[in-house]
Amino acid sequence: MANNALVTGGSRGIGKSISIKLAAMGYHVIINYNSNVEAAQDTLSQIVAAGGSAELLAGNVADSTDFIKRLEEWQQANPGEYISCLVNNAGIRRDNLMIMMPDQDWESVIDTNLNSTFYITKFVLKSMLLKRNGRIINVASLSGLKGLPGQVNYSAAKAALIGITKALAQEVGKRKITVNAVAPGFIETDMTKDLDHDELTKNIPAGRFGKPEEVAALVGFLASPDAAYITGQVISINGGLYT
Ligand code: NAP
Repeated sequence: MANNALVTGGSRGIGKSISIKLAAMGYHVIINYNSNVEAAQDTLSQIVAAGGSAELLAGNVADSTDFIKRLEEWQQANPGEYISCLVNNAGIRRDNLMIMMPDQDWESVIDTNLNSTFYITKFVLKSMLLKRNGRIINVASLSGLKGLPGQVNYSAAKAALIGITKALAQEVGKRKITVNAVAPGFIETDMTKDLDHDELTKNIPAGRFGKPEEVAALVGFLASPDAAYITGQVISINGGLYT
């Protein structure tokens, strides 16, 4: 039986680095992506070239009915296997002041960043509970800890992920399943490329944006046996940006 890790949005940015890290740790990584096949293939190739094991799982996590169907198909195609590590990483931002925020931007951010986490975690949890083993890592955000103007939708989704993390950790702790969240500050990815880096960097004590690999190192630790006694935590990774 392989040690299977599912990384939602595992094809680009932070998720890509997490996929690469978990594969280097010996996990068989199920790399989920939504629409950018090329980026997903590239991540898969990098893992295989480095001697790791991975596969692609296309699917829109915001469409929970369809996505759970895809997970059921994966399970049928891989009898006897189960997902022992889940990284809820897929996320989008649709920033706007609340007064001007289209309802659809509220809904798509909540569906992609929050509702997906509920449905996917519920799916993988069944096997984790039976096997008495599991690692669940939710990628939250600084925005979920302190709230950021222009991000009512995103801050709400990320704050809710923190709530899920703290509540679920208490439900499943006895079954040797840990549930933690990481809360990145500003990380260099496609998601942040349109931001004013020079202006934002002025407020970051470390004097720079973070790298996806740095977030992946933290997630890798939380996914490792060494982190067995850490659960229900939210770990900031933000270069010292005050939260
Ligand atoms: P990114 O560079 O935009 O990459 C997003 C990834 O998520 C891609 O692999 C994308 O796949 C996938 N994705 C997006 N919507 C999806 C959907 N509906 N279904 C399945 N996959 C989907 O983003 P990132 O900066 O790496 O962010 C990753 C996570 O970190 C997000 O949860 C984000 O909120 C969080 N975060 C980021 C920062 C930051 O500064 N970058 C800070 C704090 C928290 P496709 O390529 O197929 O679209």
